[in-house]
Amino acid sequence: MNLGGGDRRPAPAAPGDRARAYASVSLWLATCGDDLVADDALDGDREVDVAIVGAGFTGLWTAFYLAEARPDLRIAIVEREIAGFGASGRNGGWASALFPSSLATLARDAGRDAALRQHAAMRASVDEVIRASAAAGIDARLAKGGTVVLARTDAQLARARAEVEEARAWGRRDDELTLLDASQARGHLAGTGVLGGTYTPDCAAVHPGRLVRGLVRAVRERGVRVHERTAATRIVPHRVETDRGTLTAAHVIRATEGYTPGLPGHERDVVPVHSLIIATAPLPASLWERIGLARRETFTDGRHLVIYGQRTADDRIVFGGRGAPYRLGSTVRLDPRHARDTHRKLRSTLVDLLPVLRDVEITHAWGGALGIARDWHASVGHDAATGLGWAGGYVGDGVTTTNLAGRTLRDLILGVDSELTTLPWVGHRSPRWEPEPLRWMGVNAGLRAMTAADAEERLTGRDSIAARVMAPFTGGH
Ligand SMILES: Cc1cc2nc3c(=O)[nH]c(=O)nc-3n(C[C@H](O)[C@H](O)[C@H](O)COP(=O)(O)OP(=O)(O)OC[C@H]3O[C@@H](n4cnc5c(N)ncnc54)[C@H](O)[C@@H]3O)c2cc1C
Repeated sequence: MNLGGGDRRPAPAAPGDRARAYASVSLWLATCGDDLVADDALDGDREVDVAIVGAGFTGLWTAFYLAEARPDLRIAIVEREIAGFGASGRNGGWASALFPSSLATLARDAGRDAALRQHAAMRASVDEVIRASAAAGIDARLAKGGTVVLARTDAQLARARAEVEEARAWGRRDDELTLLDASQARGHLAGTGVLGGTYTPDCAAVHPGRLVRGLVRAVRERGVRVHERTAATRIVPHRVETDRGTLTAAHVIRATEGYTPGLPGHERDVVPVHSLIIATAPLPASLWERIGLARRETFTDGRHLVIYGQRTADDRIVFGGRGAPYRLGSTVRLDPRHARDTHRKLRSTLVDLLPVLRDVEITHAWGGALGIARDWHASVGHDAATGLGWAGGYVGDGVTTTNLAGRTLRDLILGVDSELTTLPWVGHRSPRWEPEPLRWMGVNAGLRAMTAADAEERLTGRDSIAARVMAPFTGGH
């Protein structure tokens, strides 16, 4: 089992050694087809039109759409490691239409129509990820097979029914979200203890490593400079200070998601919460006949402490979940003991769901940091007066949302009023997290409560009280 990558920053000096260390970050970077040699480090001061900090999906999609709209703009991205080092090169590969705030939350703040427009924009963004990556010649191994959510306890089944009822009240039809009986759900994924579930077509399984490294190639081809191995030390209006020189720019965009607390002045913007993943070796056709996922549906079940999986294009199962403790002071580095422990639990959760995997080899195990705002609300914005912009707080739903963010930031930077710039997440300001140690206590109490709630529901069959009490800390709405 490859436990190499995790969150450690590769230190060795030789570029070849560093590239090998980057390849150990995740299955996705190991199999992205790139040499992962960092390129074009900043060499002294430069003046550009748009400076972006962070070369994950947010920074890269923003540069991609800006360069497409205005090829004359001088655009530079600074990236502390290599493009795709962060969550974008480590995630579960669900390009879904999920948005961290529920329709009800969005409607409470911005009205029913605005909430539904945000939801429609997310659905359209799944197709836009597929269209734009194909147009840019990126083979991200995408398959739009939808998502199946299994219900494996009575409480989960009750929640599935309630979710579909609520969807209907919002005018969402059967072709958006369908209630499944046990045999329909097992037709998607033959897990244990399946009582029913839901299915939505609005999700594509993606190889995020191929997408993120394909995007860096695509933006470089369009004239964007991506300065890898260049760390921003401070962001202020019209200036990004780095360890290798200063970028002066009309617009400065922060695209650092879970790493944001490392920037001076942004310590309490989001908390980095770890999600961990394991990947099996490619499975033979005989096992897939027993498992299902014929259309590469992404999958989960209805438990509180999120788990998620996908069938990869090369027939592995990639399976992840939250639960590793948050570290005091918003440290992004994951404690190796916690990583080992969570990876072990993930394996037993996977085997509990699919006992046919009992003897299957786990070839890769890794983790990464999600960015969570205090109100669990993703946001994108740009202040015309200072030229400062940002996007983030996606929780675990950033693969598609970053694409919407990129197109929205393009319009905001260019001063174009569009349908995108009127969506309710634009300009949303989340409150800051509490100072430590309150932040540490609150986040970890929330994570523990979710584990306890799942156990309580397995034993009692009823909806957990603990989950409802802790909802404000864990994003329950
Ligand atoms: C394990 C895991 C599983 C996930 N699964 C899913 C999923 O299945 N579906 C989904 O929709 N979302 C998922 N997510 C969330 C999703 O991956 C993220 O929301 C998304 O990739 C965020 O992209 P980003 O570009 O904003 O941030 P990142 O990809 O984290 O990029 C930020 C970049 O900024 C760089 N950086 C940080 N500080 C500095 C600095 N000071 N100077 C220069 N560069 C800096 C980092 O090195 C990094 O490359 C998952 C996340 C994780 C961690």
